[in-house]
Amino acid sequence: MFDALLAQELLGEDAASASLARLLREQQSLLSSADIGVVFIRQRAVVRCNERFAQLLGYASAEDVQGLSSQALHPSKEDFRSLGREAYPTLSRGDTYRCERRLRRRDGTMFWASLTGKLIHPGNTAEGSIWTLDDIDAQVRMRSELDAIQQETQSLLDNAMVGIVFLQGQHVQRCNRHFELMLGYAPGELQGSHARNWFCTDQEWQSETARSALVLKAGHVFAGESTLRSKDGGTVICEVRAKALGKGASVWILMDITERKRTQEALRKAHQELENLVRDRTHALQMATKDLDREIRGRKYDRERIYWLAHYDSLTGLPNRTLLAQRSRQAIRSAQESSAPLAVLFLDLDHFKHINDSLGHRVGDSLLVLIAQRLLATVREYDTVARLGGDEFVLLLPGANARGAERVAGKVAQAFERPFQVGPHELTLACSVGVALYPHDGADFEALVQSADMAMYGAKREGRNTYRFFTSRMQAQSMRALELENALRRALDRQQLSLHYQPQVDAVTGKVLGVEALLRWHHPQLGEISPAEFIPVAESSGLIWPIGEWVLQTAAHQLKQWRNKGLLQLTMAVNLSARQFHQPQLPEVVRRVLQHIDVPAENFELELTESMAMSDAHSALAALQQLRDLGVKISIDDFGTGYSSLAQLKRFPSYKLKIDQSFVRDLDKGEADKAMVNAMVRMAQAMGLRITAEGVETEAQLEFLRALGCDEAQGYYFSRPKPAAEIEGFLLQRRPD
Ligand code: C2E
Ligand code: CA
Ligand code: CA
Repeated sequence: MFDALLAQELLGEDAASASLARLLREQQSLLSSADIGVVFIRQRAVVRCNERFAQLLGYASAEDVQGLSSQALHPSKEDFRSLGREAYPTLSRGDTYRCERRLRRRDGTMFWASLTGKLIHPGNTAEGSIWTLDDIDAQVRMRSELDAIQQETQSLLDNAMVGIVFLQGQHVQRCNRHFELMLGYAPGELQGSHARNWFCTDQEWQSETARSALVLKAGHVFAGESTLRSKDGGTVICEVRAKALGKGASVWILMDITERKRTQEALRKAHQELENLVRDRTHALQMATKDLDREIRGRKYDRERIYWLAHYDSLTGLPNRTLLAQRSRQAIRSAQESSAPLAVLFLDLDHFKHINDSLGHRVGDSLLVLIAQRLLATVREYDTVARLGGDEFVLLLPGANARGAERVAGKVAQAFERPFQVGPHELTLACSVGVALYPHDGADFEALVQSADMAMYGAKREGRNTYRFFTSRMQAQSMRALELENALRRALDRQQLSLHYQPQVDAVTGKVLGVEALLRWHHPQLGEISPAEFIPVAESSGLIWPIGEWVLQTAAHQLKQWRNKGLLQLTMAVNLSARQFHQPQLPEVVRRVLQHIDVPAENFELELTESMAMSDAHSALAALQQLRDLGVKISIDDFGTGYSSLAQLKRFPSYKLKIDQSFVRDLDKGEADKAMVNAMVRMAQAMGLRITAEGVETEAQLEFLRALGCDEAQGYYFSRPKPAAEIEGFLLQRRPD
């Protein structure tokens, strides 16, 4: 219906039927079924419209719209006019005009519509125009919403703290500001650029592309880390996420982690440094610990060594006095607790000095080591063998009583029976042993050792190579030695010393050849003290030097006086002690005294005991030679008591031998001593030495000695030793012709 009317309107009454028929044919179905509104407007009024148009504008039917001013369809008069102004140039050219505009519904509400208009007769506006109309309100709204969303998205992208890039293939389709800033580009500068530009090298780019391509193709999110190049050539490390969007498009989200990386790197470095430091420190600590360990071990070693040195004798490895003292104290304590006995043996080698002096210290040392071994073998394992120094040893025997001590002393003596082999030397020697028992002979270590020492001296006095138990007499002796030493210190100053003289007589003629000066000590309280007792005290205390020199001077002085009285052939014999003999100044002292007092050296005789002269063969020889060079005569005293060999004797620059009185004393008692004296006389004669017999007390003794061929005699038979004044008469009376 509409179509017929419309055709009539469009084509006019006359041509209507023909045109209508054509229109109907061509467009009938189109218009009626069209989903868009169609309206025919002439002279600014609606001539015809289809139902859809009426519906779109809120009218019940097309009839309601017909005749309406087309201005009513617009929101305002101005809107209506502006459309006319805009559309006119296009329409009047005969072109189709298209626009989107807001229209007004019947109820006054507005909606967006798309309009397409065309003049019915191009170039003739008066004949009206035909318009199609569609409601695009929803579309427009959606579009604006989309715009808003897009704007929002862009602002989101731009404000994102990550770089976002949309790539089409390898080219930037779009990217956000952050990405531009990240790589230092101006806004929009990256648009269309190639992704290769962001990489430092082709190689990096290719490997990155290869890495991501597979993942993206599979539809997964690619995640990685890339080093990109900024515009100014710097490097930017990025964490990368990418996803394919289809059709070669992809979106890339990049986060600048350069700083983080740097921090991480710095952290890693710091960590590494820390680790290194810790490792170094640990190493240093380990080294220090090792050093410390070594040091401690060294110290421990040193300590052990120091302990060893402090407690053991370095030559023999035996405990020394310190360790002996410790062990003795322990032994005494346990002896106290269990009231068990305890014995201490003091052992001194006999004539060890001979060996040292004649064969040298090395041989002596080796001998000591061998002796130490033998001593160790004689005792039980809980006994102690200690070396006190020199040739002194101490055996500490816990649990040993007198019988036990005796048994050990016997074993020790046995141990010395076999000779000791030191290199080429086969050495035989003996020892003297003193025994002290706890608690009787001493309550502590010092006292016990002292008692054992005294007992040992007792053994020596009684002929050596034996053992002695400590006795109270020995105790008294040692007390007396102390007392004597104190008294002797003042003896010279207080003029308690004097010399007695005993004549030495020609055995055949009975004439006096000389005198022997013998020292006397008269103490106001102690009385007369024998030189045999106080000389050893003087020796051990060193008082022998001043006393010896005093004797030399006094004797020389006396000789001078007797010479002045005409006793010109008289010889003055003076005894020398071992200590004096070993003093290097001795020859000089003798020389000075003789020179000072002015007596001829030929009239002066020095008596040395046999053992003294032999003890230190080399230096003794030198000293003797010096004395001989002065012209002084040397005689060997107490001959027969020592162990001198013929060879030693031969080298000795002596002038006479004095047979010890012990041989003379027993001459009438047995043949043995006679033979001995006989042998000594023969030997002296063979060596061209004079021979004197000491201790001649009887006519018979003298007879016998004279018969043997003894040159001189000395003894009570002729005269006791007497003060100078008392002996002088005898001397003058028996002076040689
Ligand atoms: P000696 O050198 O063997 O002296 C001889 C000793 O025998 C003296 O004893 C003397 O009185 C004693 N005597 C002499 N004739 C007889 C006798 O017929 N029978 C007996 N039984 N004895 C006789 P003394 O005077 O008691 O001297 C003892 C020792 O003291 C001396 O032994 C000597 O070794 C030492 N002596 C004495 N005066 C000195 C001295 O001025 N210096 C040193 N270093 N020692 C001295
Ligand atoms: Ca003498
Ligand atoms: Ca003598």
